[in-house]
Amino acid sequence: MARTLFTGCAGGLSVGAFDSFNLGTHVSDDIDTVMKNRETLRSLFSLDHLIFMNQTHGTNVVEVMSDDWPTADADALITRSKGIGLAVLTADCIPLLLSSPSMVAAVHVGRRGLLSGIIQKVLTKFPETELDQILAEMGPSICTNCYEVDLATYRDAISLIPELASSVQAHQLDLVAGARAILSSHNVSILEHHICTRENANYFSFRRNKVTGRQVGVIAL
Ligand SMILES: [Zn+2]
Repeated sequence: MARTLFTGCAGGLSVGAFDSFNLGTHVSDDIDTVMKNRETLRSLFSLDHLIFMNQTHGTNVVEVMSDDWPTADADALITRSKGIGLAVLTADCIPLLLSSPSMVAAVHVGRRGLLSGIIQKVLTKFPETELDQILAEMGPSICTNCYEVDLATYRDAISLIPELASSVQAHQLDLVAGARAILSSHNVSILEHHICTRENANYFSFRRNKVTGRQVGVIAL
């Protein structure tokens, strides 16, 4: 069985806008402090190694083959190795964790990645014999009511994934419903946390604060 964990704001050493468990190195927090927070996380989760990625809102999927794997430009990491934790950084996007008996994945699911097919691409990496045994867990992310986009973006998005829709008047996107639709169409079992990062001060939210930290979803075999 895979192990999963989602962090929030509390439990780290960062200060100010990054108070206190910021795990992102790209948000102008003090790097030494972020690395200490990452070490705390690795230790708490009893992992030998914890691998992060440089997330680009793209669809690059990278397989982590060893414990000293270099940080890659990617929006999904997969591994078949036990003891290696995979981390996805978020502050409103969906941290999606996937597992089958012999593989785990950490996936960054924002609007762009979702529309570009990041979820479908990751699912193709799982062993064919385990496709009916994939479990998904969606951690805290922004809710529909808090995710208004401009009307053109709204129309473009729902033309590709109708389940993202709310109403033309509101033009808010339901990222979780969109991800759920794709996962369900591949017969993946889904666990959802139903926590909105923008409304819950226990989580970092880019839409709420702009300059803010990043929490993670972590998965390991
Ligand atoms: Zn909300």
